[in-house]
Amino acid sequence: RGGLDAALAIAEGLSGAELPEGIARLVRRLDAADRDLAAELGAALADDLPLNRRDGNFVRAGYHAEIDEARLLGQDSRKVVAALQARYAEATGCRTLRIKHNNVLGYYIEVPQAVGESCLKGLMKEFVHRQTMVDAMRFTSVELGELESKIAGASDRVLALEAQVFDALSQRVMAQADTVADIADALSALDVAASHAELAVELDWTRPRLDDSLAFAIEGGRHPVVEAALRKAGEAFIANACDLSGEEAGRIRLVTGPNMGGKSTFLRQNALVAVLAQMGAFVPARAAHLGVVDRLFSRVGAADDLARGHSTFMVEMVETAAILNQATRRSLVVLDEIGRGTATFDGLSIAWACLEHLHERNGCRALFATHFHELTALAKRLPRLDNATLKVAEHRGDVVFLHEVVPGVAERSYGLQVARLAGLPASVVARAGTILKGLESSERERPSRARIDDLPLFASLTEIAPPPPEPAACPPDDTLGELLDTIDPDSLTPREALDALYRLKAERAR
Ligand code: ADP
Repeated sequence: RGGLDAALAIAEGLSGAELPEGIARLVRRLDAADRDLAAELGAALADDLPLNRRDGNFVRAGYHAEIDEARLLGQDSRKVVAALQARYAEATGCRTLRIKHNNVLGYYIEVPQAVGESCLKGLMKEFVHRQTMVDAMRFTSVELGELESKIAGASDRVLALEAQVFDALSQRVMAQADTVADIADALSALDVAASHAELAVELDWTRPRLDDSLAFAIEGGRHPVVEAALRKAGEAFIANACDLSGEEAGRIRLVTGPNMGGKSTFLRQNALVAVLAQMGAFVPARAAHLGVVDRLFSRVGAADDLARGHSTFMVEMVETAAILNQATRRSLVVLDEIGRGTATFDGLSIAWACLEHLHERNGCRALFATHFHELTALAKRLPRLDNATLKVAEHRGDVVFLHEVVPGVAERSYGLQVARLAGLPASVVARAGTILKGLESSERERPSRARIDDLPLFASLTEIAPPPPEPAACPPDDTLGELLDTIDPDSLTPREALDALYRLKAERAR
């Protein structure tokens, strides 16, 4: 009923309005709603409906004469019960006499103990004793019994009649099930479109330009959820631009910056812009130009899947592997930290190699956030890699996050400052500071940028292609092969196996 009413109200409200063709088509589908059915449901169903049909009381008064009659009878009987109670109270002279109802006894008369005794002694001959309580007695009477069955009969009858009405209405609706489902579908599509339009107007979103290029140029982009949360707190979101546009392949932006600077937010807001744009919505940005993204890959956050034998680092690697193996030139990739779950050198090497692979092989548009500041040196050698960082200001030893994405490289991670903000004990923060100083002055502990620069770099696609197969290890005359053929592993004793191994080694060395 509600759906059909809404569909018709919308169709009527928009009739004659100038609508874009897509919306006009949806409205025409709404207009197919059967007005008679809507009117029938409106007339038949009460305003407030129970969850279950067996609860009854859902047929609107005035819709069905017999139901109205049976209901009246039920109500009348209740009035008669009240009158009977008054009469019995008068007859016994007991003002606290009550006619009550419970599921065990049904209707019964209850009086205080003393009055009960007099009733038993002949005060009320028509009273039949049912129960004696601590300080009360319960009775019934023939008259009350008759009334009770009348009341029960009336409500059973109402329930049965309501069930009939329900079945008849259901059949009418089911006969039009396809139309009703189509209207529901059109309503939901219209709901999504209208909600997006509302968001676009209220939150100042913009219509993205979409084409087949490898563009990804966002001006003044925002994260809708973080922005909404900040607005509630009376704070402003700092909009940030992001350009990953390329001709032959996409660009990669390597984002370094302090913890809490806004790296994750920046990565996600750009991914969200892509999702919103491609679902047909306006986007939270001042301007946006995107080449259609074939797939959006993200690796964010730390999760494990211990039940299936996957540690956090394993999960991170599995996800990264999927991205490197599947992302194409048209994909958008968002990588929020890789290589954090293992030793520094391991992690740095993995992150570095992944970055190269993305640049040389995948050629996708990508955002790559990292704390490995060493990686920023790669920008000199990978032409489609740019460095970006989140601006901070320092004020008397405290950091102030400006949340502004600017070209360049983060000076530091400000991990200790964030740890202090988070409430780590001062002694721990101070001790960590001392350790950090020691580590930073030790050349051995961390690779310097100079050393990274010195390491050989894959220069082109061909160099990271899989290496050619190893040349065959057998000598040309294949004596080793012949020797191997003489060995039957299943029949060797341990001693003979060892001897055979030595013979093979000796032949190889020859
Ligand atoms: P990081 O990934 O660098 O550690 P986050 O992206 O998690 O940082 O951001 C930390 C917090 O900073 C967010 O929860 C948000 O409150 C705030 N923040 C992030 N980006 C912005 C922004 N552009 N404008 C305003 N506040 C921001």
